[in-house]
Amino acid sequence: MSGREVPDMIANERPVIADSLWSATANAAPDCPPLVGEVKADVAIVGGGFTGLSAALHAAEAGLSAVVLEAESPGWGASGRNGGQVDPGLYVDPDEVEARFGPDIGARMVDYMGRSARMVFDLIERHGIQCDARPVGWIRAAHNAATLRDIHGKVDQWQRRGADLRFLDRDALARMLGTGVYAGGLIDMRGGNLHPLNYTIGLAEAAIRAGAAVHGQSRVVIAGQEGATHVLRTSRGAVRAGRVLLCTNGYTDGLAPPLAQEVVPVRSVQVATDPLPPEVAASILPGRQAPSDLRRLLLYFRMDAAGRFIMGGRGGYGDRVTRARMEALRRVSVKMYPQLAPFGWRHAWGGFVAVTPDHYPRLVRMGPGMMAGLGYNGRGVAQATAMGKLMAEWAAGRPEAELDFPVTDPQPIPFHGLRRLGVAATVLKYRMLDGLGL
Ligand SMILES: Cc1cc2nc3c(=O)[nH]c(=O)nc-3n(C[C@H](O)[C@H](O)[C@H](O)COP(=O)(O)OP(=O)(O)OC[C@H]3O[C@@H](n4cnc5c(N)ncnc54)[C@H](O)[C@@H]3O)c2cc1C
Repeated sequence: MSGREVPDMIANERPVIADSLWSATANAAPDCPPLVGEVKADVAIVGGGFTGLSAALHAAEAGLSAVVLEAESPGWGASGRNGGQVDPGLYVDPDEVEARFGPDIGARMVDYMGRSARMVFDLIERHGIQCDARPVGWIRAAHNAATLRDIHGKVDQWQRRGADLRFLDRDALARMLGTGVYAGGLIDMRGGNLHPLNYTIGLAEAAIRAGAAVHGQSRVVIAGQEGATHVLRTSRGAVRAGRVLLCTNGYTDGLAPPLAQEVVPVRSVQVATDPLPPEVAASILPGRQAPSDLRRLLLYFRMDAAGRFIMGGRGGYGDRVTRARMEALRRVSVKMYPQLAPFGWRHAWGGFVAVTPDHYPRLVRMGPGMMAGLGYNGRGVAQATAMGKLMAEWAAGRPEAELDFPVTDPQPIPFHGLRRLGVAATVLKYRMLDGLGL
């Protein structure tokens, strides 16, 4: 497919979080010209990340005409910026999901999202997506005795459902990580990692090849209706469609109130070294898994394909706090891996994770013919891909009740305008508890 150079930095982003390793090492992207003029489609999709592009690909494969409208370029949002960890399952453990939603839909949610990582690796294989995909398992690391008990619970619950998860004691985990700082953990063999922006670019290419239209620089500014037809307007064009899918997650604007109040956007940031000398690179995460730990303010880390070390964690809303968090991530990296001390740090970037109060994603009924999918709580590589597929099935006519995830009316978070203050206070409290090892 034709190649367009991706800029080294995230375009139209605040400099403190714009220097993304993934942008600097991106493959050429397909041409996604702005929408000009008026077009008709079966389904119009707002947002060109994993959710929107997976929806477009699956809708096109089901024979629908699909148009994606992305305000910037495909992968500009969280999908092009994240840690690239492909972690299966919901944030909430399976027993709890089934207890809350019951044995029918609860079990279907667990099963469907449990298969989401496999879905990602299958798509990559089927469409020949070049994104350094490594289905080598996903590690969760416990930093104290209480979280280690949690790990046992997770392993037990998933093993009872036939998933390939294994408990790792302190020594086994230390061998996999190349550091002995954690008490133990698990490896979930369904998961792995990838280059997230290149996965997004590959999804866009696959969607276009399947017949979808993908437009960049096409922010939807008005969503209206004429009879049963939805009309989405950008500054230079319009799409008329029978069905609309809103896939804007942590970047949701005021287009379709009250969707923005469904989630709290929380900033997560990462820092990365230059490529390390081979002997140093080989000493860190030799199996190339990408772990995350069980701290309340979790750390996630990995190596990339060229031997750079990457560390991620919670960022701040303001530039000063964000810079301080990035520096803290560099410090904690050297504590974990003292061999990193002599080497410089090249990239630092971040983006918005969309958090929901109960940590479940949402499939939201926004009115006749309109649905939104969002709120992956930092686990969207697999979940958003899977949610996009469900949304495409709905757009193709599958009834809500047959989807493997419950569709709900909007649930705006009360006092949403004050949530940033709430997040800042919670971060302080969590930092203290994590620091005390609680
Ligand atoms: C720093 C960071 C690290 C993360 N690490 C991981 C990880 O390791 N593993 C994991 O599974 N998940 C991770 N996540 C979460 C994951 O990236 C997201 O859950 C996922 O990318 C969500 O995809 P999406 O398509 O729903 O949203 P996004 O990728 O955010 O896409 C939304 C798009 O909507 C567009 N948009 C918004 N409004 C409009 C409009 N009016 N018109 C047109 N377009 C519009 C935006 O420009 C944006 O591109 C991380 C997130 C961040 C920020």
